[in-house]
Amino acid sequence: SKSEKVGIVGSGLIGRSWSMLFASVGYKVMLYDILPAQVETALKETEKELKSLEKQGLLRGKLNANEQFSCISGTTKLTELVKDAIFIQECIPERLDWKQALYKELDGVLESQTIVSSSTSTFLPSLFTKDLKHQENMLVSHPVNPPYYVPLVEVVPAPWTKKTVVQKTRSLMEEIGQKPVTLSREVEGFALNRIQYAILNEVWSLVDRGILDVKDVDSVMSDGLGMRYAFLGALETAHLNAEGMTNYFERYSKTIHAVSETMPSSPPRMEGKTAESIAKQLEVMVPLDKLQERREYRDKCLTQLSILKKKL
Ligand code: NAD
Repeated sequence: SKSEKVGIVGSGLIGRSWSMLFASVGYKVMLYDILPAQVETALKETEKELKSLEKQGLLRGKLNANEQFSCISGTTKLTELVKDAIFIQECIPERLDWKQALYKELDGVLESQTIVSSSTSTFLPSLFTKDLKHQENMLVSHPVNPPYYVPLVEVVPAPWTKKTVVQKTRSLMEEIGQKPVTLSREVEGFALNRIQYAILNEVWSLVDRGILDVKDVDSVMSDGLGMRYAFLGALETAHLNAEGMTNYFERYSKTIHAVSETMPSSPPRMEGKTAESIAKQLEVMVPLDKLQERREYRDKCLTQLSILKKKL
């Protein structure tokens, strides 16, 4: 294991995942939470999960479960957490006022070498790092749930984040086996949600216009596009669908433009009758008391897919 220390602030779902990822390559991980009981629970759950992953042959890294767990400790003091940390991953709930208060508190106790990275899904880093002493060392590293099986991390700098901080964060993400992508600057929704929302807008429109029902529109992704997209992105898919991308543009750019002109010119509000109808159809497919079961199915699928992707 390593001598360098990584701190995790907030030991909920995402904080626990990050701590397992950092421990998988031997970093000294320290977990912190405002609720002391939450740190205890996180440590117990993490030990159980590491052992269960080991049993199933799914443990990441070269160390065994006991060795990985021995890399992880807990604290209820922020000052203890920041001491000698090279990197801190923040994982507190998605509340801007909470994040702003925490970053201000962190700013007062941080050491000059420490990078602070937020797991936020929706807030631009400038919204909670502005005017702080250590703002050059702060940025977003947005994971995708569940991070143990979905490797993408969106690295998003604020306008004042140092280039070297972006580079160090990116190489740290690579080192723990994640797949970082670096945005050149902050933009609402980062990249994953911008693309996801473009899909949701068109899916909404197809149901709203009565062209497909919910089950069939979801099948277009899960049985069609999604099968490819698990392995190749939208651009490489196109490159292979013709004799290279130049040829693809020659063949299809007019068609794509013409079809796109028939798409709604302003985004839907996603409320009213169509919203009710979509929710109703989904609750038939997956009743609300079966959501947890279905999440477990999703995670099982992602586990198998990540095994397949490593094998191919
Ligand atoms: P969670 O509610 O499971 O955990 C949050 C933890 O933070 C709790 O244990 C809570 O006690 C603790 N906490 C609250 N205020 C704190 C403070 N001031 N200092 C220290 N600890 C504090 O939340 P989560 O699902 O793990 O999400 C955490 C972050 O990760 C959010 O910003 C979220 O947007 C982001 N994220 C979540 C997902 C997801 O699918 N859950 C995916 C990507 C990113």
